[in-house]
Amino acid sequence: MSSIPIKQQRQRANETRLKIIVVGAGLGGVGAAIALLLAGHEVQIFEAASEIAEVGAGIQALPNSSRVLQSWGMKDSLDRYSTKPSRVNMLGWKGNLISHMDFEESASRYPGTFYWDFHRANLHQCLLDRAVELGAEIRVRSRVLDVQIHDSGDSATLILDNGEEHNADLVVGADGINSRLREIMLGHPDPPQLTGDLAYRLLLSTKEMLKDPELASFVTDPQVNYWLGPDAHAVNYVLRGGELFNMVLLVPDDMPAGANTLAGNVDEMRALYEGWDPRIPKLLNLCESVCKWRLCIRPGMETWSHPSGAFTLLGDAVHATLPYLASGAGMALEDAAVLGELFGRMADQAAITSLLHAYGTVLSSRKIEDVLELYTHDGVIMAPGFAPAVGQAEIGRAYERIFNTIKLEIDFEIDEIVVMEDSVWAFARTTAHGTKHWLKKGSEESHHNQELFVCQKIEGRWKVARYSFSSMKPLM
Ligand SMILES: Cc1cc2nc3c(=O)[nH]c(=O)nc-3n(C[C@H](O)[C@H](O)[C@H](O)COP(=O)(O)OP(=O)(O)OC[C@H]3O[C@@H](n4cnc5c(N)ncnc54)[C@H](O)[C@@H]3O)c2cc1C
Repeated sequence: MSSIPIKQQRQRANETRLKIIVVGAGLGGVGAAIALLLAGHEVQIFEAASEIAEVGAGIQALPNSSRVLQSWGMKDSLDRYSTKPSRVNMLGWKGNLISHMDFEESASRYPGTFYWDFHRANLHQCLLDRAVELGAEIRVRSRVLDVQIHDSGDSATLILDNGEEHNADLVVGADGINSRLREIMLGHPDPPQLTGDLAYRLLLSTKEMLKDPELASFVTDPQVNYWLGPDAHAVNYVLRGGELFNMVLLVPDDMPAGANTLAGNVDEMRALYEGWDPRIPKLLNLCESVCKWRLCIRPGMETWSHPSGAFTLLGDAVHATLPYLASGAGMALEDAAVLGELFGRMADQAAITSLLHAYGTVLSSRKIEDVLELYTHDGVIMAPGFAPAVGQAEIGRAYERIFNTIKLEIDFEIDEIVVMEDSVWAFARTTAHGTKHWLKKGSEESHHNQELFVCQKIEGRWKVARYSFSSMKPLM
């Protein structure tokens, strides 16, 4: 059982159900599909590769992302593949302990904040399975070349390299560090930036390690270890419950221009770690072949979304970092969760919009029973110059006074609606412009008011819980 609340898939009426295309089936893209499907939308994923697979070896999921994964109902499926390290050790390059953090102690203080280590293929497959279970349609061999926003601004067309065109209400670019969609969003070429570092990524079978008393405890007592040394560092942890050992070595970049990944030379790699904690050369002696990955970054963007609202980006396409805090995929999953949260609130936004328009209408119809219908039983109106009117009876008297004093002919505009995370409370700002008729004096004047509504969802219906307004005419 997870102590993190599990999101249920929303059932949504067609009017608020969007057709969404996610570009890229990496960890961020599949995560976005899950979050948006849980929010009740229709999601397709377009992936350029001919088959869906995660490259690389191990991946750490820190509490920020393990919480997200649990909220998507994935704890049971992931538990089968996760290794839970008991602590992380920061070591000097000679093996001296500099600092450590006890994961079990921190998880006991903050329930549900697991540190999980995975083989990437397992994490990715669990995400794909969940996305398909929730209704995702996944298309491979679908490289997106262009995104064209429609003049109306409420949808977009994707152009694929095979000439196909596909329309969507929302396009989510999750196409990774070499993102084409980032360049489309920016309107100019924007290649990733070199960092001067590269990573050797290796996976060792633990069978040989278990034969060596100095290495066996890496497998039998899973912990995450970082060694920090001159010009380089090294990270390792166990995968698949002790079956594999993941090691990443971070060293200065010596790759030729233009290359991103290359087969590495094992002897060259070993030479870089001569004189380090003797367990590292021992581990590297167990390695037969290795890959070199050039490490690039993407500085963040001023805005991740097109002003139309029909096109947004997430994950490495926006903010690829050096992997030294093991957080790139975690951040992509958090991006996905936030997107799902926002697009989950669309029905509430629509219902509050109707409530506010209904309020604008009753100001013209002037029927007290219609006004009271919009307020909660313990609602409050705070009119300038009067004590607050609390509850239906007082609110009724306040509106009688208002309607007996003035008559409004106004246009009512909604400036802002913000729904709180619990989807029970929201606030909204509106403005009203037009003419105010003073009934007793028989005179009229221009009317410019601003209003603040605090709304509450009661038994599935949004109502006005608190309301105050003020004139926008200067007092002096
Ligand atoms: C050595 C190393 C170790 C790391 N360790 C960790 C770690 O422990 N924990 C962690 O959280 N992060 C880690 N990261 C970072 C993490 O791997 C990335 O941040 C994460 O995978 C990014 O996911 P993404 O979905 O944004 O992009 P990607 O995984 O790159 O996915 C992009 C997808 O889009 C597809 N695509 C590209 N262009 C198009 C197109 N035009 N049309 C359609 N599809 C397209 C690609 O084929 C790909 O499938 C590490 C990174 C490195 C290099």
